[in-house]
Amino acid sequence: MADETHAKAPESGASGSQQAASGPGAGPRAGGPRPGGGPGGRGKFFRRKKVCKFCTEKIDAIPYRDVRLLQQFVAERGKIVPRRLTGVCTTHQRRLTRAIKQARNIALLPFATRH
Ligand SMILES: [Zn+2]
Repeated sequence: MADETHAKAPESGASGSQQAASGPGAGPRAGGPRPGGGPGGRGKFFRRKKVCKFCTEKIDAIPYRDVRLLQQFVAERGKIVPRRLTGVCTTHQRRLTRAIKQARNIALLPFATRH
């Protein structure tokens, strides 16, 4: 009996070839240099209080007859000063606008200064 032993030759399969799939991402970063993060508090400009006057004084309805009050929010030409300058909140700015327009209608405030 021929007992043949299949001696398998050990296949020399060097299965240790790992290809580097990950790209080389180690490039020079173009991250800009940050400007020195200091406390940028240049208090040269005096900012107005960014608090709504009407909210602080709890004025709900803006009296359109109060010319003095309204005039604080009307520029010399008769223009309504934008909210970003006065600091009035949106709600009160709307009411203020209405009040100013009403005041204009009854000639308490000028529409615009004529040239
Ligand atoms: Zn307000």
